[in-house]
Order: sequence, then structure tokens, then C-alpha cells
Amino acid sequence: MKVTFPHMGNLWIALKALFEKLGHEVITPPPITKKTIDLGVRYSPEFACLPLKVNVGNFIEGLENGADTVIMMGGSGPCRFGYYGQVEREILNDLGYSFNIIIVDPPEGDWKNFLRTLGPLGNNCNWKEVVNALLLAWSKIKALDHIHRAFLKSQHYESSTACSCYEDIIKKIDIAMDRKELRKITLQGAGELMLLTETEHVEQIKIGIVGEVFMMWEPYVNLDLEKTLGSMGVEVVRSAYISDWINENILYNPSCILRKMRFKRAAKPYLSSFVGGHGWESVGETILFAERKFDGIIHVLPFTCMPEIIAQSILGSVSRDYKIPILTLSLDEHSGQAGFLTRVEAFIDMVREKKRAIV
Ligand code: SF4
Repeated sequence: MKVTFPHMGNLWIALKALFEKLGHEVITPPPITKKTIDLGVRYSPEFACLPLKVNVGNFIEGLENGADTVIMMGGSGPCRFGYYGQVEREILNDLGYSFNIIIVDPPEGDWKNFLRTLGPLGNNCNWKEVVNALLLAWSKIKALDHIHRAFLKSQHYESSTACSCYEDIIKKIDIAMDRKELRKITLQGAGELMLLTETEHVEQIKIGIVGEVFMMWEPYVNLDLEKTLGSMGVEVVRSAYISDWINENILYNPSCILRKMRFKRAAKPYLSSFVGGHGWESVGETILFAERKFDGIIHVLPFTCMPEIIAQSILGSVSRDYKIPILTLSLDEHSGQAGFLTRVEAFIDMVREKKRAIV
């Protein structure tokens, strides 16, 4: 099979390693650019959410580069994510592409169906080879998240050095083909990044990022929000990582179950049920950040995202009750860098002034 998949944040690195280890030819979709977005926008329904449009752009680029199989995550309601795979298949079929799509739904207890869906991807490898491929991909995801956390802790000290150091480490993680080497790269890389935190830094502003995960994890669509904040001397903490999602939804890791319980308990006075996507998390994590005395919150969502619009309607009350400034960035293919920068800069100035007034 010649497989392609969405290019979301750094996830493509782990997926590439997984499918290469299983003996597939991997057609990595090119990094997201204006061309990707233009393709997705041209062929997707106008009111589809931005992540779907970006996926369509990714898949067209992957298929044009020779892929014959598209791998896509599935999901269940109540938002539109449950239909993504099917809608994308219809769009690509209408465009005349000849391909196979494998939609992987989270197991939700039905392991038989989960493994049946994944069956063709096994490529006749034996169990040992499959387990090794999965372990390598999982180790890459953990390494990427670990390095990203270290990067966010350090980038506001020396932004450009941290960025180039981070890019170098990510390249090394992409190339690494065994777990021992990965461990070494991760330890060394995190150490290098943490060295930057020894530089003197005058004022600490800490901002938590919550919202829809594709928008949080993919820098092209969030207009490089994290690095923009880092360059302003702001420390950024992301509310969720890819490894958290896998721990919660596939591995049922107890520490992540606890994390889930914590945000649900925090959100309860405002929202006490699942609204699709990460809307519930956005409310709960905002409150947890406020309780940890963060200076502000940035909520990112794709324009028309139903779960995050519900969260947005609640976050005003959270902001008032916890006296924490919250900026909502609702982004789509029309969002421009200049307007975005003005809003973020104004928000950070306001947060700084508020902090100074308190001190
Ligand atoms: S969470 Fe939002 S962006 Fe994602 S599929 Fe659902 S509605 Fe669309």
C-alpha cells in the first residue's frame, strides 16, 4: 500500500514511522501551506470546519504524489467529526481519485472491530513486527510531546535559539529508527532546551491554551500562536497533547483517567456533559488553569465548531467568576496574520498591565 494521512502538528512523524515499519510505502503529505488550504476550501462544503478542509487538502496532495490509501481517524457524535471520514471519501471520489480509505474509530470497548479495521494495515507482518512498529510510533509520540513541553518551558527565554534547537531535535526524532536512540535524543534535547531557562528573565506571564485540538496542535492553522507568544516573552502551557488523547481513548492509562476526572469535576458547575470534540475539556481545563493562578487563557477554535462555541458561551462566566482574562480566537481560512497579531498583542498587554497592577 502507498499510504497517506493528515498532517496534524507532529503526528505525521509517528504515523510515518509506524507505516514504514509495517512495510508500507509512506507518502507523507507535504507540510500544510496556502496551497493545501486553497485545495481543501475549493472542494469542501463552505460551512465545513477548517480541520476537514485542511484534511481534504492534505489528501489531495498525498494522492497527487502517488498514494493509494488514505488513513483517517473516525469518531462518534455529537459534532461533525463522526462524519469526517465519510465526507472526505465522497469528496475525493467525486474528484475522480481511485483510492482506498481506512477510517479508524476509537475502540470504545469494541476491540474486535478496532483490530478488524486495522487488519489490512498489518501488511502480513507477524505479531512481533506489529508490536515493534506500534511501540516505535508510541515512543515517537511521547518523545515529540516531551520535547514540545520542554520547548514551551524554554522558548520565552530565548525565542530564536529555542526555535532552532526545537526544529533540530524534531528532525532527529523523525530520523530515529529505534527506541534506544529516541530516548537518547529526547533526554539530550530536553536538556539543551532547559539550559535556556537559566538565562535571566524579567517578568513571567503564563498563558494556558485550550480549545479544539487540531487548532491547538497544527501551527499553520493557528498562525503559529505558541511561537508568537514565546517571542513576546510569554510562557505557554498547552492543555492537551496527542499522547494524552491516546492514553485516554486507546490505552486507558489511569493517570489520564484521573486528568479526565479532574477537568470534569472543575467544569461541573458550568457544564456537566459531553458536547462533542473537546468543548468539555476547554471549560474544565480553563478552570484548572485559573486555579493554578495562570495570568490568562487563549481559547482557539475553528469558526463554526459546535463544541467550542458551547465552551465559548460559558467561558465568559468563568472569566468573570475566576477573574481571569480569556481571549477567544475563532479562526478559518480567511484569518489574516495582521488582525491576529493585533488581537494577541493587545491581550498580552492587558494581561501584563493587570499583573503589574496586582503586584
Ligand atoms: S470538534 Fe469542531 S472542528 Fe472538530 S469536527 Fe467537531 S465541529 Fe468540527
